[in-house]
Amino acid sequence: MKSKLVIGNWKMNKDFEAAEELTTAIQEAIENINLKTEVVLCPPFPYLELVTDMADESNFNAGAQNCSQFNDGAYTGEVSAAMLAGMGVTFCIVGHSERRKYFHETSEVIAEKVDRLIEQEIIPVVCCGEVLEERQAGRHFEVVEAQIKEALFHLSKEKFEHVVIAYEPVWAIGTGETATPAQAEEMHKFIRTLVEKKYGTETAYNSYILYGGSCNPSNAMDLFTQEDVDGGLIGGASLKSGDFVAIIEAAETAVNEN
Ligand code: PEP
Repeated sequence: MKSKLVIGNWKMNKDFEAAEELTTAIQEAIENINLKTEVVLCPPFPYLELVTDMADESNFNAGAQNCSQFNDGAYTGEVSAAMLAGMGVTFCIVGHSERRKYFHETSEVIAEKVDRLIEQEIIPVVCCGEVLEERQAGRHFEVVEAQIKEALFHLSKEKFEHVVIAYEPVWAIGTGETATPAQAEEMHKFIRTLVEKKYGTETAYNSYILYGGSCNPSNAMDLFTQEDVDGGLIGGASLKSGDFVAIIEAAETAVNEN
């Protein structure tokens, strides 16, 4: 089994001091472990420099939660992919369901953000996932297929190989209701098959498909031992160092057990 990827999405939480404390606690907990798991911390923009500086001397990476679809210019309040790259950011979440819902991000905009990030050699972590009504209506596969095709399938095979996909059923985000390991595996396998049809078996196998949605220390192991679950995008549980480190440990164990 390939090594796992665990990404913490802090969303709009923490003051500067608390961000520093959290980063330091994670750094200290993992610094002496010969980690196979790749770890990424995605703080709010104002704390990125803190995290990129600490990442330089640590075994984690710094990621952003969003970027602009534009290169530069008169876009007040926006942050470009080039600015992120200049700070040493190596991952960026794109198309999170909260951005689709509250900021009306469309698949077209998400595809443009993916392009900007790849141009800057930042790995886009592209989120997809159905809302509860879509799952109840049995439309979850159709919805996720459309999201992936619209955001990603314009990419060449070479460019696609730099992308991470995060399956996050919206009904599981921040609700405490996790997809069962079987539900997660079913969707991850479906996504990998879509990738295989478009880009071939090797690319599909090598692609990272993360699960996100109320992942915590108690359910991480069951999720991460599923064949097609390559790690997690973690929201709430990434805000407590103990929980986040326990999830990283579950990722390590899941790889060693398989
Ligand atoms: C997320 O928002 O990406 C997420 C997975 O949140 P939570 O873990 O809190 O459900």
